[in-house]
Amino acid sequence: MIIVLKADTEASSPEVRRLIAQAESYPDVHTELHRIQGATRSVTEVYLLGHTGVIPTEPFEEHACVEKVVRVTEKYRAIGRHAGGVDAVGFEYNGVRISQETLHVVPGLCAVDNRENVDQMFAALAGHGLQTARAGAYKPRTSPYDFQGLGQECLPWVFERAGHHGIRIVAMEVTHEAHVEQIQRALEASGNATGVLLQIGTRNAQNFELLKAVGQQTELPVLFKRGMGITLEESINACEYVASGGNRRIIFCLRGMKTNLGDPHRNFVDFSHVPVVKRLTRLPVCVDPSHSVGSRALAPDGLMDVYHVTAQGIIAGANLVLVDFHPHPEEALCDGPQALLMEELPHFLEDVAIVRRAYEDRLARAKQDD
Ligand code: PEP
Ligand code: MN
Repeated sequence: MIIVLKADTEASSPEVRRLIAQAESYPDVHTELHRIQGATRSVTEVYLLGHTGVIPTEPFEEHACVEKVVRVTEKYRAIGRHAGGVDAVGFEYNGVRISQETLHVVPGLCAVDNRENVDQMFAALAGHGLQTARAGAYKPRTSPYDFQGLGQECLPWVFERAGHHGIRIVAMEVTHEAHVEQIQRALEASGNATGVLLQIGTRNAQNFELLKAVGQQTELPVLFKRGMGITLEESINACEYVASGGNRRIIFCLRGMKTNLGDPHRNFVDFSHVPVVKRLTRLPVCVDPSHSVGSRALAPDGLMDVYHVTAQGIIAGANLVLVDFHPHPEEALCDGPQALLMEELPHFLEDVAIVRRAYEDRLARAKQDD
């Protein structure tokens, strides 16, 4: 059961303490207090855990500080919508608001290779008013002989350059708990020049110990990528591990499914699941067109497949677009063939804006029938 408190309620007030004492007076029931700093408002929720099935909701609804009481379904307790019972409030991180309503483009290097490319990338993004970028330092590769990423060695200059160009969030995959600590230390040493969105890659979608580790720290938000060969339900359950650890600042990312049925795309594009994830969970939804399509293939209409699937994600309401760019893709140490070129950035961003406007028009039209 979740008790959602009214917006201005002080979590430490005597009223809330009375509410918690009342909840804990039921046998085998304990509570957890969660404050979610949303994109537009903050929400405080009291979670009742244990044998709550027999507890009536009315005694709690009578408290003046209570907005509503929601019976949770067994599934996705922390990230679920519970049949629309709880709102998707989103979150703010390092001055950037991210929710099921906002849209951010997160272009950048699949893998950090050298300082010049990182600097050129961040400068170009900043030039277009972007504050979000991707830059991988730890790369999980199919072959042990492939480039594994520069690791912690590159963090000081990646963060320094990000800060210099006003990039506020760098999405960066972690494959081991130790990477989280290395990132936290390097961020601190940089004077928190920027912020980091910890990316859980598709290969680690069910690495439960890693999910617990990123979930037990609440300093850095998490971008969880759907597992490539498991069901959506299994992926959302795995994502729940992050939230159940205490970290509620999570983004769910669709990146295509591994099956030959998607050929010639690298993965079978699954962006039709954007509204599904928004309905089932409270999480903002990201799409990754680069790892879905995996090439720069051009359609006869003059638009690359990457542009087309990006549009498919946005027209369906996606909140972030994680996309590979590289100043010199032929020299890239990872995923060069799918990277867009820096000179393509203006067209890509215009295309995103065109589709977003169409999505907003669709929403306005749908509201007329409400
Ligand atoms: C990536 O974004 O760099 C990546 C490796 O993606 P995925 O985990 O979706 O394959
Ligand atoms: Mn990649």
